[in-house]
Amino acid sequence: MSYLDSPVPPIRERRHPETALAHGAARCGHGPQRSTCAVLAQSDRSFTQGSICPLLPALGIMTSLPETVVLLHGAVGCGSCANGNNVNVRAGRAARGDPGQDAMWLSTALNEINVINGGEEKLAAAIVEADATYHPKVILTVSGCLPGVIGDDLDGVAAKTQSQVKAKILPVHCEGFKSRFMATAYDVVYHALGRHLLPEKAAGPTDPVAVNVMNVGSMGLTDEKELAKLLGELGLVANFFPVFARPESFAQATQARISISVCPTHDDYFLRHLEEKYHVPYIIRHMPIGIKNTSQWLLDLGQELGLTKPTQALVKKEEAELAKALADLKPFFAGKTAFISAGEYRSLATALLLRELGFKILGIRSFHFDSFAEVELAKLDQGEDFIFNVANVQPFEEANLLKRLKPDIFLGHWHGNSTAARLGIPAQVIYNSGYAYLGYQGAYDLARRLYRRLKNPAFYARVGQFATLPYRASWYQEEPFSHIRETQQ
Ligand code: SF4
Repeated sequence: MSYLDSPVPPIRERRHPETALAHGAARCGHGPQRSTCAVLAQSDRSFTQGSICPLLPALGIMTSLPETVVLLHGAVGCGSCANGNNVNVRAGRAARGDPGQDAMWLSTALNEINVINGGEEKLAAAIVEADATYHPKVILTVSGCLPGVIGDDLDGVAAKTQSQVKAKILPVHCEGFKSRFMATAYDVVYHALGRHLLPEKAAGPTDPVAVNVMNVGSMGLTDEKELAKLLGELGLVANFFPVFARPESFAQATQARISISVCPTHDDYFLRHLEEKYHVPYIIRHMPIGIKNTSQWLLDLGQELGLTKPTQALVKKEEAELAKALADLKPFFAGKTAFISAGEYRSLATALLLRELGFKILGIRSFHFDSFAEVELAKLDQGEDFIFNVANVQPFEEANLLKRLKPDIFLGHWHGNSTAARLGIPAQVIYNSGYAYLGYQGAYDLARRLYRRLKNPAFYARVGQFATLPYRASWYQEEPFSHIRETQQ
């Protein structure tokens, strides 16, 4: 039985119970200390400062979908992160020829009375109102924690209300309390899309040149163009799903010759379904960030499709061109130190890229860890040791680590960047969907941005002089991982 036969998807903790970690830390690298990476075990924290609810990345995907209303069923604050994400939605839609389109999200804004009496009627009325007001093709009814606690039947409401509206109603079960892994977000969104936007029956792979490239909310159109260009040189056509994909286009995913993941931790749920039900094979191994990773990503695809020789020729040409472009920058990076903080795959793949540029990696903070990332971690075996911290945010640990390690540059999301900046460490935002990051183009683009950032660190030196962090001096005397407790082997 497929997971998608059930109305509610399993959480990541259940799907990957042996390998998924929400908390942990280790010293990784080659030599005898490498083995400590293997003892990363399920652990907890005696103090936790904050974490990302799966709703945040789920909203990032859902609000990008054109002609779609995201109707949050929960407390009104649950959707607040959609406001911050709107800049990506507007820019992404404008880049794709649809300017002036905001993320369309509404909320049933459940209150105390609804918690006592139930919120199903409110949800049904909101679906009808959203349909009449905005005429979307799809309404995603998204459950936050409250309906999960009081037992509102999201699927029952959708079934009862469907005949009253033109839009297709897709229930999305994203109650934040259920999972400590923000990656659960990807499964819940794919679950809804897979159950409701794919045909019941399909002929299977009928398009010999189409390749499903599973995109992520953190890559922009520039990255998609880079990957499409590389596939185009092999005579292949890239179809990008799910971010910014039109609801009616999802059916095409069942006809492609093959699917390839850009971020393995993001995609396995959907790719397995495409293979099981529609016989579309898939590759899920590398993230095309960095020189070798991009080449390996392409070579895997070429090998699966019987295009090994043209792919090898393409990789050789691209690597030679990039080596020439980076020749002036690499001597400047040699021996500079870096700390990276991001989602599991992006952080590890970025570490590999930085090593290719000549940096020494001092530390990596990953929002979670699972078996998909073991491939990337193994690639980092050859090289100096580094600290590996599994933490869904926890800026206090990061502040302690940064103060000890004193890297030349920090790459991370904005919240981490502010911690680094206040310690006087130059910070580079880990991604900006307007910039290139993936493929050979992305490697060059990131190198240029790092060069500019490091060439003149005066701004961060000034910030560090005057800004403060909210921690006592005694915290910096303690071990950074003193609040992590191992709970099982
Ligand atoms: S944890 Fe629950 S209440 Fe908080 S934002 Fe996420 S879904 Fe909403």
